[in-house]
Amino acid sequence: MSSKKYILGNWKMNKNLAEITKFFASFNKHLITNNKIKYGFAPTYLGLGLASNLKKGQTFIIAQDVCEQEEGSYTGQISCKQLKDYKINYAIVGHSETRKFLGCTDQMVNKKVKVCLANKITPIVCIGESLQQYNKHQTKDVLAKQLKTIFNGVDDSKCIVAYEPLWAIGTGKTPTLKEITTICTHLKKFVQHTPILYGGSVNENNAIDIVTLKNVDGLLIGGASLCPDKFNKILKEVNKWTRK
Ligand code: PEP
Repeated sequence: MSSKKYILGNWKMNKNLAEITKFFASFNKHLITNNKIKYGFAPTYLGLGLASNLKKGQTFIIAQDVCEQEEGSYTGQISCKQLKDYKINYAIVGHSETRKFLGCTDQMVNKKVKVCLANKITPIVCIGESLQQYNKHQTKDVLAKQLKTIFNGVDDSKCIVAYEPLWAIGTGKTPTLKEITTICTHLKKFVQHTPILYGGSVNENNAIDIVTLKNVDGLLIGGASLCPDKFNKILKEVNKWTRK
């Protein structure tokens, strides 16, 4: 059995230009060619140009966020039009860290998704529940509510969803495999034709078990994507699995 899998790395505010160069020097040595896997990285905005130049093969480059406005007086923001200068066709929106530190809301994510689609950028929409909500068994309701607001007036089939429990990001904790597949299956009821990725403490040891779960179409990886060897190991295993 095989289907298309997304393996995406979010570098957050890590790596300067020298480190991005070093990463690709190593990562590019073991590239895979497989049209059933789509893989890419989201460097800092300032590294988008360099990463775009250094990437090889099927690797694609992703923006970590985008402004919900087309252009104008929005100090510190980056527009879709500016991303297009770097031929960026994917942008993460609504990541929990932009929600926590920059005040991003579901309503703003809805606008970001719309501006992305208007500019032919595929939004990678992050949703997830807090630990408190998880403990109260509210996960399904919380996610359904997020999807309703975020995809209001939107063709969700042109987007990607990343289910990232807030309590799993950068903590070394993950839901059980059963919980991940149950939640992703639940999400498919709302966004039937949208790839659904899982993110939160994925590493080179648990990635293959998670990505091969029913209704999981890929992974959004933070910490483990910073290391070319770890990311390559994940890709190698997924590559092997898709060829079974
Ligand atoms: C993330 O921030 O999107 C993420 C999944 O991080 P980590 O893999 O480090 O938990």
